[in-house]
Amino acid sequence: MPEYKNTAGKKKPQKPNKFLNVVRLGIFWLLVAFLIYSFTTSLNGDGFKNAEQRTITEVLSYAKAEKLEKIEVKGNELRVTAKDKTDLPKNIISRKDGSGTLQEQGFEEVINEGKVSVEIEDDTDVFGIILDAAFIIVPTILIIGFLIFMMRQAQSMNNQNMGFGKAKARVYGNEKKKVLFTDVAGNEAAKQDLSEVVDFLKNPKKYEKVGAKIPRGVLLAGDPGTGKTLMARAVAGEANVPFFSISGSEFAEMFVGVGASRVRDLFAKAKKNSPSIIFIDEIDAVAHKRDARGGAGREDEQTLNQILVEMDGFDNETGVIVIAATNRVDMLDKALLRPGRFDRHVNVTLPERTDRVEILKVHFKNKPVADNVDLNALAAKTAGSSGADLANIANEAAIGAARNNRKEITNDDVTEAFERVAIGPERKSKVMNEQERKITAYHEAGHAIVGHVLPDSDPVHKVTIIPRGRTGGVTWFLPPEDRSYKNVYELKDVLARAMGGRVAERLILGADGITTGASSDLQHVAELAREMVSEEGMGTKLRDQVFNTEEVNFFGDRAKIYSEKTSEIIDSEIEALTKEANARAEAVLKANKKHLDALAQALLEKESLEEKEVAAILKGTSMPAAAKLHD
Ligand code: ADP
Ligand code: MG
Ligand code: ZN
Repeated sequence: MPEYKNTAGKKKPQKPNKFLNVVRLGIFWLLVAFLIYSFTTSLNGDGFKNAEQRTITEVLSYAKAEKLEKIEVKGNELRVTAKDKTDLPKNIISRKDGSGTLQEQGFEEVINEGKVSVEIEDDTDVFGIILDAAFIIVPTILIIGFLIFMMRQAQSMNNQNMGFGKAKARVYGNEKKKVLFTDVAGNEAAKQDLSEVVDFLKNPKKYEKVGAKIPRGVLLAGDPGTGKTLMARAVAGEANVPFFSISGSEFAEMFVGVGASRVRDLFAKAKKNSPSIIFIDEIDAVAHKRDARGGAGREDEQTLNQILVEMDGFDNETGVIVIAATNRVDMLDKALLRPGRFDRHVNVTLPERTDRVEILKVHFKNKPVADNVDLNALAAKTAGSSGADLANIANEAAIGAARNNRKEITNDDVTEAFERVAIGPERKSKVMNEQERKITAYHEAGHAIVGHVLPDSDPVHKVTIIPRGRTGGVTWFLPPEDRSYKNVYELKDVLARAMGGRVAERLILGADGITTGASSDLQHVAELAREMVSEEGMGTKLRDQVFNTEEVNFFGDRAKIYSEKTSEIIDSEIEALTKEANARAEAVLKANKKHLDALAQALLEKESLEEKEVAAILKGTSMPAAAKLHD
């Protein structure tokens, strides 16, 4: 993809670094001051080269004894010259105590009586002051210089970030290979909505003539990987206009004030190139509800405000349409959704089975595929997958074929890619000892049998004890068709079959022989049971009541808004569901112990069993009355 190049962003010739100059200047003057100071003091002090130290009381006593010729006072320092022919050294150095004058320090009498002459020199020590000042001024200059340096540095980093305050927004649409609606499979409703936008961009006059307002903002909402970005690019491709894109998360990395200026620039550029499209991906990153995070970042707010200001300034001649994408509509600031802003909403949904076939076709289109590859079957077992997941599977399958030096993608490559994307790569290298393999085999067989026997569970698709991703083994259940709703019976069967692994371990290894291999199963049970009780109104005592309503307080913490008593009932409901699941799984496995042994044995031998193989081994299982929920 060609980066949008900004000619204004050309590098200026490097200026000499101001910071270094300041340092050099500082050091230079410091040296000069020091040299002058030491030079003059050495001159002055010449006659006092062999001076000896005496205390001021001693000096006073010499003065009283008329042994001194003169005292020179310089600041606190006393330079005392003794009379000749005395027992004192010629030159004496002493210091006053504190700041008082000599008179105040007991010399008044001797001075008045003329026993000593006192010369008071200008007591400001100019060079000392310069030196003292240098010690304050130089670091200050250094600190200020450093701050300036840091600021310039930060600024130039911003400039790098965004090409001197201009957006680094990428522009699509001028490139050779455009994205078109045909590249977006499925999602017909969304494409329908967006083709109107394309028409606005292509024939603005048509709408002006009848006085229609051209939409300013379109919000694409949908789960991650459902093709929102792709869809926005397709709008640009279809309308044949430039496409400026930026991601909300990029704003989060910026320095203070940069987000807003970048928005300003992005809009300016789009207007200059109008008609055009601005695409703001992940807009929730800057436009989250202002209360949701309790005093959320002012920086984000500035960025958001700037977006709103820019959009409010649009008119029919502007010819710019802003498309934003988010997977968290519920998180968005309401101000964004007001009329004249992002008032058109397009929902992009997870693909249904027929759409999945279409998406797979798009992604296998330019790849060599063997005849045995069944995209319909792959579509059937990928309920809940996004377009991005499916694209990923197609790519993994191609990589797999290349890895095995095949010229064509085979069905095995596709299956392996599917499993790899769904749970993670096989870890054949992970060594399990015989005991661990046996426990894993019984654990997985437990899941499979409970799921197979219970009437409202999806059928077993595959069982394996080959470690994959973070799991030791996997039992897969796949719905025969896409479904949006589940009833209580079905969910209770999900709970029971999830318990099946732990229960099988218990039957084989005894109550305390159970392993940590079931922890994620138990986690799943706990979560699903809680969801049933508190979010779906599926409890027994609390039927049809939900308790997922929460309050977000000032700090953004969620607090429950139901009583302690209700809280206890919820807990007991969850416990009841868990116990029931446990008991039903145990009833099924005890009633079908022979099949449990057989399936575990088959797994130890073959490691992986497909749907039909499992069904063959599990022929003749029975449904015990204890596990029955309904006729
Ligand atoms: P989103 O922006 O919703 O997170 P993207 O547009 O980035 O999703 O989709 C990621 C990739 O998934 C796309 O580049 C494309 O390869 C694939 N994809 C997603 N949805 C579709 C679709 N409906 N048709 C074809 N490919 C799709
Ligand atoms: Mg995206
Ligand atoms: Zn398990």
